[in-house]
Amino acid sequence: MSYEIVVVGGGIGGLAVAALLSARGMSTCLLERQSQVGGCIARVEFAGYDFEPGMGLYTSFGAGGVYERLFSKLPVEAPEVSLLTSPHVTRLTDGTDVQSLRDNLYAIHGGPASLAERLAESIKRSGGSVRLNSPVLRLAYDESSRAVGVDLLSGERVFATKAIISNLTVWDTYGKLIGLNRTPSEIKKRLNALHGTGVYVVYASMEESAVPRLPSERLLVKDGEGEFTLAVATHHAAPPGKRAVTMTTRTDVEPWFSYQSSEEEYEEWDQDALEHFWKRLHAALPELGSDIEIIETANPRTYYDLTRRKLGMVMGVDTSGQAMGHGTTLPNLFLVGDTVSSTAEVNAVIEAAISLAERMAK
Ligand SMILES: Cc1cc2nc3c(=O)[nH]c(=O)nc-3n(C[C@H](O)[C@H](O)[C@H](O)COP(=O)(O)OP(=O)(O)OC[C@H]3O[C@@H](n4cnc5c(N)ncnc54)[C@H](O)[C@@H]3O)c2cc1C
Repeated sequence: MSYEIVVVGGGIGGLAVAALLSARGMSTCLLERQSQVGGCIARVEFAGYDFEPGMGLYTSFGAGGVYERLFSKLPVEAPEVSLLTSPHVTRLTDGTDVQSLRDNLYAIHGGPASLAERLAESIKRSGGSVRLNSPVLRLAYDESSRAVGVDLLSGERVFATKAIISNLTVWDTYGKLIGLNRTPSEIKKRLNALHGTGVYVVYASMEESAVPRLPSERLLVKDGEGEFTLAVATHHAAPPGKRAVTMTTRTDVEPWFSYQSSEEEYEEWDQDALEHFWKRLHAALPELGSDIEIIETANPRTYYDLTRRKLGMVMGVDTSGQAMGHGTTLPNLFLVGDTVSSTAEVNAVIEAAISLAERMAK
């Protein structure tokens, strides 16, 4: 098959740029390796709960914000959102609560996955193609070393006459799509200097009656060890009388991949991390008591399985990563996603996708 634009990856960046370009009438194909779109914001459903995949901090839904600008160009409506009534609160080490400067936070009904699903719908309505379960192996080159499309794991070749857009991280775009043997040593050096981080996530069930005891539905907790966030899902499915809760804390990625020689050791490592986190949670938020119950966890290995991001590194890169920009060493290969946006936030990734789509449409 041949298209003007081939987008590799159906995270929020790939979806947004594919939706914008197909809405402009360009023939577009988005290839996603998973059976659902969204990547880091894909649906997280366990035991009848629909969990907020992340910290639940979504801004820019107001008039003139990035979502209005995006959806005004698309043949679908933006997902329903509600302004959160409780402010973002930080609990400090001494137990006091302060209202953070972050305001105008929104809950996306059904979570950010519904945003990803709207964009996939938009691509299809504009005549584009969204192919799930379609892992891309590498770029396909002609005899003059020009990238002509991509090769799928299935052996199929998909041609791109105008451009290929990678929604993979900068590391994976060079390491996997372009290939390290075609990556100049200067770029390799820059990639090695970029730092990423991992997250440890706990999905839990909370008694509805316990929620008002919390200082807010969006919490940042600072304790002696660092920080963690807590988000009570709003407008998400949960069994009667319960609420889905997501807690996230940063973690180094390497130990999750290097220090366990067997599955048993890995399980033990994961269990220790959970017990440790659980103690931190109850020490910082004693008002929770026994009204919270663990449902599932996620760690860098989970994110690697989910998105194939190098070492499961999420949340973008340190600020020097912005220097990489949308362009690559190949004239017809471009990048979109949180390793090349101003911050690793959904709104910033969409902002970067809008600017890339404008550049492509010229
Ligand atoms: C725990 C956590 C909490 C967060 N909380 C918030 C928050 O509260 N607010 C906020 O704004 N942001 C938050 N973020 C950040 C935000 O969710 C991410 O920055 C954003 O979703 C990343 O999108 P992306 O487009 O870069 O790509 P990804 O989400 O990484 O998507 C890349 C896609 O490419 C696919 N793919 C990979 N390899 C291939 C291949 N070979 N072939 C085909 N497809 C492939 C993957 O399956 C994936 O779907 C959070 C992130 C995490 C992890």
